[in-house]
Amino acid sequence: MNPTEIYRTWVEVSFDALRSNLAWIRHRVGPRVKILAVVKADAYGHGLPQIAGALMHGGVDVFGVATLNEALGVRAVGAGWPILLLGCSLPAEVETAVRHNVMPTISSLDEARRFQRAAARQQKTLAVHVKVDTGMGRLGFWHAEAADAIRRIAAMPNLRLQGAYTHFPSAEDDAAFSLEQVERFRAVVRKAGVQIPLRHADNSAGVLNVHARGRRFGSLFNVVRPGLMMYGIVPPGLPPVPALQPTLSFKSRVLLVKRIAAGRSVSYGRTFVARQSMRVAIVGAGYGDGYSRDLSNRGEVLIRGHRCPVLGRVTMDQTIVDVSDARFRNLRAGEEVVLVGKQGHDCITAVELATRAGTIPWEAMTSITKRVPRVYTGAAT
Ligand SMILES: *Cc1c(COP(=O)(O)O)cnc(C)c1O
Repeated sequence: MNPTEIYRTWVEVSFDALRSNLAWIRHRVGPRVKILAVVKADAYGHGLPQIAGALMHGGVDVFGVATLNEALGVRAVGAGWPILLLGCSLPAEVETAVRHNVMPTISSLDEARRFQRAAARQQKTLAVHVKVDTGMGRLGFWHAEAADAIRRIAAMPNLRLQGAYTHFPSAEDDAAFSLEQVERFRAVVRKAGVQIPLRHADNSAGVLNVHARGRRFGSLFNVVRPGLMMYGIVPPGLPPVPALQPTLSFKSRVLLVKRIAAGRSVSYGRTFVARQSMRVAIVGAGYGDGYSRDLSNRGEVLIRGHRCPVLGRVTMDQTIVDVSDARFRNLRAGEEVVLVGKQGHDCITAVELATRAGTIPWEAMTSITKRVPRVYTGAAT
């Protein structure tokens, strides 16, 4: 028996696609650039331990996470891997981060001093990365003040300045601004005048839209930080990259098929009323699984390789779709429904789902909830 037969809603993750995407990124950036694989938010909903495990065999150099808990999650899979905490650290997290040799991102001298004290107490030297705000307006030292901060941090006896980085707010649609950020960052590195072994800026959109143009910046950057593209999704606004294959499919099953007469309404709020007699299928996924309520009357799912519009409101555990078409004759409980992914000759991409829901693929992927089992296909190594 197919083990997914007992799941009403599940996610399928393809290790083969992950491996192939990683190989493509490696090819794109060349052999001398390190790949920092971003696995925050449960590896974009794919499952952190499984993805981290596969990537450890797949040629990444560093892991990037958002929280200390995620860092410990990577540690639990394989000891010894460099892990960069991309977010700030709470004062209460500092001791633990140092104990597990998690590299923090430093955005203030206060943070640097806390890590210096904890590292001294634990008689360690801790590698750290300093973040420079060149225009993102979130974490990091403002670039005009960053060189001075970098020098001070480099002088702290129990910290080892291993890297400096910045982040693009608009790499997918504003290459000019991104290149200006690169110039600001370059000025900081030059002015700091200390050894900074790792220097990085590129998220997925950066790798696809800025990195090549930035070649004229020579060896300034020697690390990239892909997230979304590693999972086979091109940031919206950029041209398609056929070589990148989606790693995730989101699937469900028909629970019930029924006929409704003209004039009857469907689901909460009665936002859909049948104009004629129609057949509907109740699908076993709802917003409690991460199938957004914003897809009410807007989403489409695939059944037997064909599209079925969502009727009425998406509910917590069920979604109603139109299966009046003759192609769905004799549709039975248990048949597969694709929410994201391929079926037959059609495909609903994460970008399409996100666009229909009025959001972005990053949010759509990380919204798939814990109750949805993740099933892995292909070899992890
Ligand atoms: C999440 C994140 C990334 C990865 O971004 P993608 O757009 O998913 O490639 C890179 N760098 C930082 C600092 C991040 O927070």
